[in-house]
Amino acid sequence: MPDESPLESLWTDGPVSLADYMAAANGHYYAARDPLGAAGDFTTAPEISQMFGELVGIWCADLWDRAGRPAFRYVELGPGRGTLAADALRAMRRFGCDPVGVELVETSPALRAAQLSRVPDGTHHDTIESLPGDAVLLIVANEFFDALPIRQFVATPEGWRERLVARDGARLVTQHGDTPVDADVAPLLRTQPVGTVVETSPAASAVMHGCALRIAHNGGAMLAIDYGYRGPAAGGTLQAVSSHRYADPFERAGEIDLTAHVDFTALTAAARRGGLTVAGPVGQGLWLQRLGIDARLQSLIAASPARAEELEGQRHRLVEAGEMGELFQILTAFDPAWPHPAGFAA
Ligand code: SAH
Repeated sequence: MPDESPLESLWTDGPVSLADYMAAANGHYYAARDPLGAAGDFTTAPEISQMFGELVGIWCADLWDRAGRPAFRYVELGPGRGTLAADALRAMRRFGCDPVGVELVETSPALRAAQLSRVPDGTHHDTIESLPGDAVLLIVANEFFDALPIRQFVATPEGWRERLVARDGARLVTQHGDTPVDADVAPLLRTQPVGTVVETSPAASAVMHGCALRIAHNGGAMLAIDYGYRGPAAGGTLQAVSSHRYADPFERAGEIDLTAHVDFTALTAAARRGGLTVAGPVGQGLWLQRLGIDARLQSLIAASPARAEELEGQRHRLVEAGEMGELFQILTAFDPAWPHPAGFAA
């Protein structure tokens, strides 16, 4: 890594945890750029089709209606370009479902600007801590939890150790810490063979727990959409993407997108600890079909027949199993006094 690296000061006191590396690298990565879309590094569901955000909006409107039409705030975590919020709010307002506030939790100055161009009435927050506590909260997070820092633990002959990131001249290398971390590894996984990698994301659990406490107190619901798995599971999932290709997570630090698969079991536990009921996760494809993507597709095609092929292609990417339909999972966590959210088996 060249000496002028923006992350240089991270290693002043020696090796750092993978979590600290990921937090610093992604903080730098997102701060100054819009990474989304064909010209960027990766594409997300709301950038593929307006149908995605519209169905999220219909999910919100339906739940709000069945909950007795309370005053509420629409909250989005990591709203990217603001496309999902704009599409969802447009669909919601068609049903009279109009929030008293639009709260955008976003740290990146570049993306904040992009969000305000699409959602001019949005108010920005650095973290969920400053969300107002005066109304019901409907919280949406698409591809947010995957960007939060993970810790990795490695089974060594001496027991479990944390994976650290160190400088070796111009390069970054990983090594093991000296401190035993067996207590941080799920009991079911502690007997895995030497070399096994296990991940946790304390940051993701903390955000989910914080959102849950807010919803348990004020009423509301949350929708978390990400690629992930049901833990506890062994295996490392850290990945880096640059210009729509996989890259080495330890090269070009701060210039590439670092993500990890989301442990939906850990998110579920955090939401329950905060007092919420959880449903899902269900595959994105099934959820979108239950919410009516095929009816929405037909009405869009009827309005612009020349776009039929393009719109069919968008539905294919969002719904089909070989595309995003099964890899991406949707979880809801909601106030136990609230109705059961649409799209999830009771
Ligand atoms: N939800 C959008 C963007 C996903 S990219 C979409 O689906 O298109 C991840 C988003 O999370 C970006 O907006 C990024 O700036 C934001 N983000 C990443 N880490 C964050 C953190 N710790 N706090 C707040 N926002 C964060």
